[in-house]
Amino acid sequence: MQVFIEPIGRLINEFSKLPGVGKKSAQRYAYKIIGMTESEAQEFAAAILNVKKKVKYCKICGNFTEEEVCDICKERDGKIICVVKEPKDVIALEKLREFKGVYHVLHGVINPMEGIGPNDIRLRELLARVGEGGVEEVILATNPDVEGDATALYIAKILKPLGVKVTRLAHGIPIGSEIEYTDDVTLSRAFIERKEV
Ligand SMILES: [Zn+2]
Repeated sequence: MQVFIEPIGRLINEFSKLPGVGKKSAQRYAYKIIGMTESEAQEFAAAILNVKKKVKYCKICGNFTEEEVCDICKERDGKIICVVKEPKDVIALEKLREFKGVYHVLHGVINPMEGIGPNDIRLRELLARVGEGGVEEVILATNPDVEGDATALYIAKILKPLGVKVTRLAHGIPIGSEIEYTDDVTLSRAFIERKEV
């Protein structure tokens, strides 16, 4: 027997696709939408479609932007590039106000278990950026877990011949944890005390 009438079941199903949203939460969200006015629901749906239409990846660093090139790439000195796994890591590092250089978002890390190799992340783009010259340092800020470390090691190996200084965030970020969830003080220190690899 179908517990929910079709339109409600369908909405619950959509909410269930979101990370961390279980059946119970999905139901709560669906009821909340049902309780909205027509215009509130319009706003909500429009915001979802709007991000899909407006948000693009910066063609230089791969971070989210509304234009071809993001504000960070446009305004900052490109001598130091900080390499991260995902756009959310840029947010975490920007909050520290420590770093004044530019970023390179890989959109993943090398993970043989899941079939993700060097060609599946934005490594070629990074090599091209460094190859253009003018880059003095590349900071590897992937998460300190197995995949993040392996990816950092791999990148260090391919960048070294290009004569660029390659550094890795200092330890202090708990092993296996994510940059995004590391407290600001620890992350700041790991950043300042980064070591050449
Ligand atoms: Zn950019």
